[in-house]
Amino acid sequence: MKKLFLIFCLLSTIQSDAQQVKNVLFLIGDGMGVSQIYAGLTANHGHLNLEKCQFIGFHRNQASNQYVTDSAAGATAFATGFQTYNSAIGVDSTKKPQVTLLELAEKKGLSTGLVTTCDITDATPSSFIAHQEKRSMHEEIAADFLKTDVDVFIGGGRKYFNQRKDGRNLVEELKTKNYEVVDNLQALKESKSLKLVGLLAEENPVKISEGRGEQLLESAQKAVSILEKNKNGFFAMIEGSQIDWGGHANDKDYVTNEMIDFDKVIGWAFSYADKHPETLVVITADHETGGMALLGGDFKTGKVEAKFITGGHTGQMIPVFSYGAHAKDFAGIYHNYDIFKKIKKALNL
Ligand code: MG
Ligand code: ZN
Repeated sequence: MKKLFLIFCLLSTIQSDAQQVKNVLFLIGDGMGVSQIYAGLTANHGHLNLEKCQFIGFHRNQASNQYVTDSAAGATAFATGFQTYNSAIGVDSTKKPQVTLLELAEKKGLSTGLVTTCDITDATPSSFIAHQEKRSMHEEIAADFLKTDVDVFIGGGRKYFNQRKDGRNLVEELKTKNYEVVDNLQALKESKSLKLVGLLAEENPVKISEGRGEQLLESAQKAVSILEKNKNGFFAMIEGSQIDWGGHANDKDYVTNEMIDFDKVIGWAFSYADKHPETLVVITADHETGGMALLGGDFKTGKVEAKFITGGHTGQMIPVFSYGAHAKDFAGIYHNYDIFKKIKKALNL
């Protein structure tokens, strides 16, 4: 029996290696270091969906100009394969625009999507689609969305599209490019459109504890239900943005609530990969936030005791969890910008 089981394990590993990757679900938990994960696991009474991952690696994430990265340099490294300076959006350390995974996927005929729980023009999602010198250039970043053929994007930040200093109304411009643009989750779910924009908040969507509900999971599911119609496959980046904000606020409950919310998407992504074996799921963070340490906890009650040492980010290595086709490629220790190369290779972009 034991032998049979070992053979089965070996075969399934070989299979996941040989399986061509058609779809990538790239899940980023902003500010999600090992402590944030384990705090979430503790608060969730000793369990996370993330535990089902198949391979684990670590990435080194220093920015080109600083030891401690921000989300812009972090996401730009993932998106373009270039180590760059803090605040850079889709540009390298010389401020030169570099092609992103999303753009390469589009060029290859795949469908693409971005889903987030912050402004869609915030650093993490925008690094996959925009090219600007500074992350604070929200209106310029919003305009960059119209230069692409992204199929779906969902998040907050409506005001950067329709209340702009330059007077342009990008919501109307998106409509002339055949996008349906909705401003609430219900309309998003009911949409039949194959080009869909959800600008679900004027600025940032609220915290999970303030009634965001299932917005992240349902937005991710809606996005993928559109993207999967393309027989060539898809690339989707889905971000749990506010784990980072819990860290900045040194608020352990904010961290654990957002972590558990993000973990729901992880559970769904794994089951999607089970049903669609040509799917690769990669889960990581850009950096750790808060220097969070766990000093105690109780799996029964879900109580977490934590301390933070900073209101900013830290420079520690960050875990990478992978599942499905080519998951094995993500074992080991490498740089954050190597994730670009690994996903590019897996999708044959
Ligand atoms: Mg972010
Ligand atoms: Zn941050």
